[in-house]
Amino acid sequence: MKTLYWLRSDLRTLENQALEVFLKQSQGELVYAETKSSWGWSIPKRKLRDGALLDLEVRLKKKIIRLETTLIDYLKSTPAPELILWTKESALWERQEEEEVKKWCQTAGVKFEEFDQHTLVAEADLPFALESMPFVFTDFKNKLGKFSVHTSSEVISDEFSAGGESEALKRLRTYFWETKAVSHYKETRNGMIELNDSSKLSPWLALGCLSPRSIYQELLRFEAELGRNPSTEHLVYELLWRDYFKFFSKKYSAQIFIESGVRPLVFPRETIRDHALFMKWCEGKTGEDFVDANMRELNLTGWMSNRGRQNVASFLMHDLKLPWTWGARYFEEKLIDYDPDLNWGNWLYFSGYGSDPRSRKFNIKSQAETYDPAGEYRRKWLDKV
Ligand code: FAD
Repeated sequence: MKTLYWLRSDLRTLENQALEVFLKQSQGELVYAETKSSWGWSIPKRKLRDGALLDLEVRLKKKIIRLETTLIDYLKSTPAPELILWTKESALWERQEEEEVKKWCQTAGVKFEEFDQHTLVAEADLPFALESMPFVFTDFKNKLGKFSVHTSSEVISDEFSAGGESEALKRLRTYFWETKAVSHYKETRNGMIELNDSSKLSPWLALGCLSPRSIYQELLRFEAELGRNPSTEHLVYELLWRDYFKFFSKKYSAQIFIESGVRPLVFPRETIRDHALFMKWCEGKTGEDFVDANMRELNLTGWMSNRGRQNVASFLMHDLKLPWTWGARYFEEKLIDYDPDLNWGNWLYFSGYGSDPRSRKFNIKSQAETYDPAGEYRRKWLDKV
């Protein structure tokens, strides 16, 4: 059957049921299209995506058709396939694109199959309907209880080469097996300097070069061999935060991208729209060293630690009193691991217009003393620009 696999944030061969179906078809093309979301990505993120596509071509020994246009434009201009396959996503624009393609398929009489494989726990396995998803993360996690993760047994390829999925698997191997750093994740995850402070898997998770289910499988293997501990458990906890924001985004749709969010502020605060002040925050020139160092790291590398993200977000909203959406938009343009659900979800959460039951004003000076006591991190980045 002539099949088209619409590649999206699932640029991997492993733990990819859509690809397994695709490879069983007699004829097929792999197509990657630009999307509304990808037009705004930073240069480092685009480079990472390009590397991931090249890596996928090497691993599959198959050419990927790269479109400058949307998939719909392509479908309208070429002979129709008989079947289209894709991985479902949760953010608004991505779902709008899915709807457009579905509509086109229905009109053109083309079959399609969607795969529920971008989260750890599949939406179909949630013990509640998305509409009644618990609002607060702790309730979400508790209601989930003992969850099941369905992993695909078929391993398609295990070769290693540069870029994309290969690099993601290499990183997974280093973090779990070579350094065994995962066994002290809970103690080091707030670190800001060392590579192994945290898994650093987010850039590949965002592009789908790695499935959260593969990380989970590897973690089970690690626990079976070397023992379960609070750190290995905590990594699953963080992956569930990822799921939570993905399902939250799907449930609240456009609301996660707008300033008024999903509920009124419980702890009201003033907001000012001062563009000059915002530029200082963006450039890392606010005069608050800890914030400035983090913003400079972001600007120079596309990366910022989770601790840094929380601090610069709190500073933007609570100290500079700027709209949280300005910060989220800036992160969208800069982060190498930009993921619409996680970025906007976290910003919304910290803004107080989301599901966080507490007020999240950080004391930046005491955060700097706790997480960068000798000033090593600040010196590293403040000296750069
Ligand atoms: P680890 O600590 O090793 O965690 C493993 C994985 O768990 C991460 O890769 C991620 O998939 C998930 N995870 C960890 N923390 C969170 C969290 N707070 N929320 C949801 N999932 C989490 N993460 C992104 O991947 N893309 C974004 O665009 C993004 N924007 C953010 C914006 C703000 C304001 C904040 C506070 C956080 C944001 N995060 C985002 C979440 C988090 O900062 C990163 O996932 C994490 O720092 C990535 O590093 P790591 O892979 O070493 O994470």
